[in-house]
Amino acid sequence: MTLRPAAPETGIVFHRLDAGADIPALWTNTVNATLCTMLSNGEGLEIKTVEHLMAALAGCGVDNAIVELDAAEVPAMDGSAAPFVALIDRCGIVAQDAPRRAIKVLKPVEVAAGSARVALLPDQGFSMSFEIEFENPLIRSQEMAVTFEPGVFRSELCRARSFGMLEDVERLRAAGLVQGGSLENAVVVSGDRVLNRGGLRYADEFVRHKMLDALGDLYLAGAPIIGHFRGSRSGHAHTRLLLAALFADRDAWCATTLADTGELPAIVWPERQRAHA
Ligand SMILES: [Zn+2]
Repeated sequence: MTLRPAAPETGIVFHRLDAGADIPALWTNTVNATLCTMLSNGEGLEIKTVEHLMAALAGCGVDNAIVELDAAEVPAMDGSAAPFVALIDRCGIVAQDAPRRAIKVLKPVEVAAGSARVALLPDQGFSMSFEIEFENPLIRSQEMAVTFEPGVFRSELCRARSFGMLEDVERLRAAGLVQGGSLENAVVVSGDRVLNRGGLRYADEFVRHKMLDALGDLYLAGAPIIGHFRGSRSGHAHTRLLLAALFADRDAWCATTLADTGELPAIVWPERQRAHA
C-alpha cells in the first residue's frame, strides 16, 4: 500500500494497481460485510478492511489522498490505526489552498437493530460515545466518551487493536477466513485471559477499538462530521446504515467548511472537555 498526495476536492480514493480501477472511499461504495468494512465498485472489484486506515486519515486530518493497493485488502498491520498514523506522521501533511469540507449534523438520526443502536446528534465539534456489552468475563460492559481535541485521537484511540475470541478465531481459520498469526494483528481473548504477550494496551482497549472502527466508518461520509456519534453494541453494518439514514434526510445535515485547525477531527471547541464515562 502506498499513500499519495491528492488535489483539493479529491477526498480519499482507493486505487487498485492490479486492476487499474479507482474506488472513492464513500459509504455509497460499501457493501454489507460483517467482519470488516468493504468497498466495492459494483463490478466485482473489492477492497476489504479499510476502516483502520480511514480512521488514521480522519484522525490525522487528511482530507485528500490516493491509496494505492496491489491487492484486495488493506494490510492488517497490528490491528490498530497506529502503524498508519506513524507513516503519515513521518511523511507529514500539508495545508492545501482550499476550504476544508465538513458535514454538519442538524437533527438527531438513529438506527436500531436488535440490541444495537447508533445515532448522530447535533454537537459543536466532533465527539463520540460508545458502549459495548459482551458475555465474556474479561470484556463485560465498557463505555467511553471522547471529544476530539488535539492529540486525543493519537493518545486515546489510534493504538486500540481489533479483538476476537479464541473460539471464533479457530472457527474462522477453519473456514479459511483468517490467515497468518492472529496474535500479531488482533487481541485474542480466551475466557478471562488475553493470549497476546504483553496483554492489553489499555484496560478498556475493546471499547476504544469499537470507537476507532466507528471513526473510520464515519469518514466514509466523504468529509469529517460535525456532531456527536453514539454507538451501543453496534458494528460496521450499523454505522453504514446510519450514514444512509443521515443522507436520506435532507433536513438532517448540511455541507459546510471548517477553518483549518491542524489535527482533525480536532474541529476544536474549547468549551467541552474530554470525558471518560
Ligand atoms: Zn476494527
